[in-house]
Amino acid sequence: MSKFDYDLFVIGAGSGGVRASRVAASHGARVAVAEEHRVGGTCVIRGCVPKKLLVYGAHFAEDIHDARQFGWDVPDCRFDWTRLRDNVLAEVSRLEGLYAQTLDNHKVALFRTRATLVGPQKVRLADGQELTSERILIATGGWPFVPEFPGSEHAITSNEVFHLQELPKRIVIAGGGYIANEFAGIFNEFGSKVTIVNRGDAILRGYDEQIRDRLLQISMTKGIEFRFNAPFQSIEKQADGSLLVHLENCEPIPADAVLAATGRVPNTRGLGLEEVGVELDRNGAVKVDETNQSSLESIYAVGDVTNRIQLTPVAIREGQAFADSVFGGKPTIVDYSNVPSAVFSHPPIGAVGMTEAEARNRLGSIRVYTSDFRAMKNVLAGRNERALYKMVVNEATDQVVGLHMIGPDAPEILQAAAVAVKAGLTKADFDATVALHPSMAEELVLMK
Ligand SMILES: Cc1cc2nc3c(=O)[nH]c(=O)nc-3n(C[C@H](O)[C@H](O)[C@H](O)COP(=O)(O)OP(=O)(O)OC[C@H]3O[C@@H](n4cnc5c(N)ncnc54)[C@H](O)[C@@H]3O)c2cc1C
Repeated sequence: MSKFDYDLFVIGAGSGGVRASRVAASHGARVAVAEEHRVGGTCVIRGCVPKKLLVYGAHFAEDIHDARQFGWDVPDCRFDWTRLRDNVLAEVSRLEGLYAQTLDNHKVALFRTRATLVGPQKVRLADGQELTSERILIATGGWPFVPEFPGSEHAITSNEVFHLQELPKRIVIAGGGYIANEFAGIFNEFGSKVTIVNRGDAILRGYDEQIRDRLLQISMTKGIEFRFNAPFQSIEKQADGSLLVHLENCEPIPADAVLAATGRVPNTRGLGLEEVGVELDRNGAVKVDETNQSSLESIYAVGDVTNRIQLTPVAIREGQAFADSVFGGKPTIVDYSNVPSAVFSHPPIGAVGMTEAEARNRLGSIRVYTSDFRAMKNVLAGRNERALYKMVVNEATDQVVGLHMIGPDAPEILQAAAVAVKAGLTKADFDATVALHPSMAEELVLMK
């Protein structure tokens, strides 16, 4: 008999925590998980899933417009935010139920409460109950970071944006990352006046420069406004309840809502980690080795709280690798090379591997192929919006080391193409593949 209440106690039932819990349980471990908000975590409750549903909802604005060119008599349409919001929230609740069901099916004990560490093998629940576990997994995710300035309390974050009572007529979005650009696209399609305000001079750092430029150009054509090098000074609440956003170097901007999409920080505050002796890095992330083990033998961490790559599929892989290694006798190390990513902007971006600039720095001699085209559908729709595909090739080996795309369905196409990049295929391999015509993806095998 074990002297511990559990073999594994997981703090946080998000992407990484749920996967680790159920896999460890399927390997025979006695597992408990604590969740202080809702089962499913950021991705399911207030991230990827509701965001993508809003992206779908938003895209109807263009589809309805384009449908007329394709022969459909479409009467003037009205968008109802509360209907979409409520449908999305209902879907989120349905998924939450499925996640809780999965835990239950695997006999994982679920504590719907906050847990903190009180020892290397002991946690305390919010009601004071203390439980022991041979191993503890920290899977508490990330939290939106909002810079402090006068009136910053008037800004909402991605946590609140899915619950807005009404559609803001004017919204200011602070930040230049993927969340800022995705919500800019969403609100712009819904008819809000959108201004993205950025402290620096570029959007989407980390993505290929040409692709970022293309999104900026298309976003501006669609009516999204940008302010660069414009840090926030203050947000002033007006007598009528609206907001006035004061920026450095710019005129103030009136708004009905301000969304701070200014980054996410590891969710480690008040968890008791440092008190117990778990080392954190300077951003507050749990320091782990490649086996996801922290500086304490009994404590592991996976997902956004470790601040490696903050994406759901990565957190899931880390949770799986942890459970297989520690409880399944199958040591597994996560491979972080060529992780594909997307920005669900309008139009969306998909990318895998090195950008042109990275490849030049790391490989020296490279070849770059681009295809700059107007999708057939956009031509008939009279939509002057060009897609851009870019392939980065290692000159020495002919290997495709990066693919970057902006255009309709780019993430869908990129996921399949990422298999080829991950497998180390060459430009000659792409060329040897017969095109699938007519498609946008065929550009990938026709680049000259
Ligand atoms: C708006 C938005 C859009 C996103 N879109 C995408 C996307 O399109 N694709 C993608 O791959 N990723 C996306 N992400 C990122 C993705 O959501 C995260 O990478 C992923 O959820 C990380 O999983 P995790 O398990 O590390 O943490 P989370 O999923 O954040 O789970 C952590 C859980 O721990 C709980 N918790 C925290 N502290 C405690 C405690 N002390 N006690 C009990 N419970 C606790 C939290 O309530 C939470 O449920 C998005 C994120 C946001 C915010």
